[in-house]
Amino acid sequence: MIAETILLKARMGNTDSHTLASARAAGAYRASAKTLAAAPEEIVQLVKDSGLRGRGGAGFPTGLKWTFLPKNRDATYLCVNADESEPGTFKDRLILEEDPHLLIEGIVIACRAIRCAHAYLYIRGEFCLPHERIRAAADEAYAAGLLGPNAGGPGQAIDLTIHRGAGAYICGEETALLNSIEGKKGQPRMKPPFPTNVGLFGKPTVINNVETLANLPFIVEKGPDAYRAIGTEKSPGTRLMSVSGHVERPGVYEVAHGVPMRGLIEDLAGGVRGGRKLKALIPGGSSTPVLTAEEAYAVNVDFESVQAAGSMLGSGGCIVMDETTDMVWALDKLAHFYAHESCGQCTPCREGSGWIAEIVRKIATGKGTRADLEKLESLAAQIVGNTICVFSDALAMPVVSHVTKFRAEFEAHLADRASSSSAAP
Ligand code: SF4
Repeated sequence: MIAETILLKARMGNTDSHTLASARAAGAYRASAKTLAAAPEEIVQLVKDSGLRGRGGAGFPTGLKWTFLPKNRDATYLCVNADESEPGTFKDRLILEEDPHLLIEGIVIACRAIRCAHAYLYIRGEFCLPHERIRAAADEAYAAGLLGPNAGGPGQAIDLTIHRGAGAYICGEETALLNSIEGKKGQPRMKPPFPTNVGLFGKPTVINNVETLANLPFIVEKGPDAYRAIGTEKSPGTRLMSVSGHVERPGVYEVAHGVPMRGLIEDLAGGVRGGRKLKALIPGGSSTPVLTAEEAYAVNVDFESVQAAGSMLGSGGCIVMDETTDMVWALDKLAHFYAHESCGQCTPCREGSGWIAEIVRKIATGKGTRADLEKLESLAAQIVGNTICVFSDALAMPVVSHVTKFRAEFEAHLADRASSSSAAP
């Protein structure tokens, strides 16, 4: 039986937890006060020592990312990625709604570490309450001097601009996010140059996810050893897992890295709905390869374990599918989402995503043939790695994993299935 390990959710049950008064009464901004006297390099080292890894998807070490900034620079920007649009993921939303001061304190600490005087927070356009809460929290922080002209120390400003997106999934890709803030079309940029060298307004820029930054107050206040004492050696700390789909108690659960996925589903989320059996699990948001029930029950909630099973922990968006799920139908929904959200810059993605969606729909409606199934696999293989950003991989991975692991279901939908099965030994 596993239980939650509460680190980021510590204040979330308190009355008016989103307000400065409530957050401060429970210890908010004690950690950022400690960093006032610290040299930026000391804070960076602290974060490196903690082993904190990004929670947006890739799991890249946060402190190391900060060291990629050029030594001599006249300006630095921090961009906070709050464009949480990955289907199945809703954990940043919880922080923004329930404890926005945890995030603002993390932003202040990060700004001091990377010598940033102006941070930008890019928030998903559809996030109404989260936007209201983070904006109100920023106003409170300005009024209290926690943000503003002396927030980084006497005469050292830390300003925060909140920028609301307009509903494009691709703006969660870091360079599309930069373009969108700059008022351009929200389309990804070619890399290199990477944002740490040429980012927002052409200046060195760090882009960090909401949950990543929310870990900083704990790390600063309790120290890297206390942080490393939670989780696994390579994946320290906790993880906010958004659990949705066919479970009894969907929600956001905070678990120490390394707990069994089975415990997350059965103990915390109440098990598969109606006592049914698990059929499949998407472990880290819709773009991560689907796991069979057997694979899902064998992994732990940490980067390495899920990777070893051929998928990714990604953004922690865990979608549970029970034995009644039609996997062709499930892929049909995903394929249409990606076809709709392709930004259209690259031919393989723009055309390929549309073709993939059409073929999956054809198969799902019983009109597809064996040749269509082969074409689907071929298209997915051809778009991977041949585009400006990883969006095409994000589409191809679910296609390949669904078709490979649940092939019999796809074949059962084919219009020429009779001849297929009669040809089988
Ligand atoms: Fe746009 Fe797709 Fe190319 Fe990414 S891969 S830049 S989403 S067209």
